[in-house]
Amino acid sequence: MKLTSLGSGSKGNSLLVSAKDGLTTTFVMVDCGFGTRETVRRLERVGCSPSDLSALIVTHEHSDHAGGVLAFARRHRIPVWMSYGTFQALGKDFSEIDLSFCRDGDCFNVGDLQISAFTVSHDAKEPLQFHMTDGAVKFGMLTDTGQTTPHILNALSGCDALMVECNYDDLMLKNSSYPFYLKKRIGSIYGHLSNHCAGEFLAQIDQSRLKKVIGAHLSQNNNFPELAKQAIDASVDTKKIEVIVAGQNDGFEWVEVTGR
Ligand SMILES: [Zn+2]
Ligand SMILES: [Zn+2]
Repeated sequence: MKLTSLGSGSKGNSLLVSAKDGLTTTFVMVDCGFGTRETVRRLERVGCSPSDLSALIVTHEHSDHAGGVLAFARRHRIPVWMSYGTFQALGKDFSEIDLSFCRDGDCFNVGDLQISAFTVSHDAKEPLQFHMTDGAVKFGMLTDTGQTTPHILNALSGCDALMVECNYDDLMLKNSSYPFYLKKRIGSIYGHLSNHCAGEFLAQIDQSRLKKVIGAHLSQNNNFPELAKQAIDASVDTKKIEVIVAGQNDGFEWVEVTGR
């Protein structure tokens, strides 16, 4: 399995997961928070084109995840998956779009990838995050949640690779110029995970198969990549586990994840 990000943060998110089985390669995009032309440009940067994509899966309605979904999927005829709540919250015209619904606990196949949805704690109508497998490797993603729950820990146990939100540094958010309501929203249990919370989550999760950890969805105002990396490094065995931090502009380059 291979992973790359076209960009990660509050100005736009898009992740690519690919699985190879013999001559066929499946590409799935998770979220599309960039405009159509920008998405194509970023896809080209990682050696892909829209016609490679088998599906576009959407985590929730916030524009940094769903802002580009409709135009991109319609223009390039890509099947879309999302929760019914996300569909309702978007309230948009989905004509000409091949739309499927999924919800917490669902498991569905796209090409050679089996994808499982689980719910998270975020101020969206029916937010989902996903873990997926090609039969050999399990990858899990967790961004846009204000807290980790036993349900999340259970869904993401035994992953070979994890992408975890490191949205903010506690002190930087506290001292930032953000208005009080926004600080409260970000720091709430329906907001985002701090570096500290990401570290606590990693310390709790089953790391027996873990080889790669990607820190993601960093705030450009209330965090630094070095602080996110420090928090992850402190919670994993860095001799065995590679730690990567995703950027808003560059995301991260293709990462290959192998089994045991
Ligand atoms: Zn977001
Ligand atoms: Zn969000």
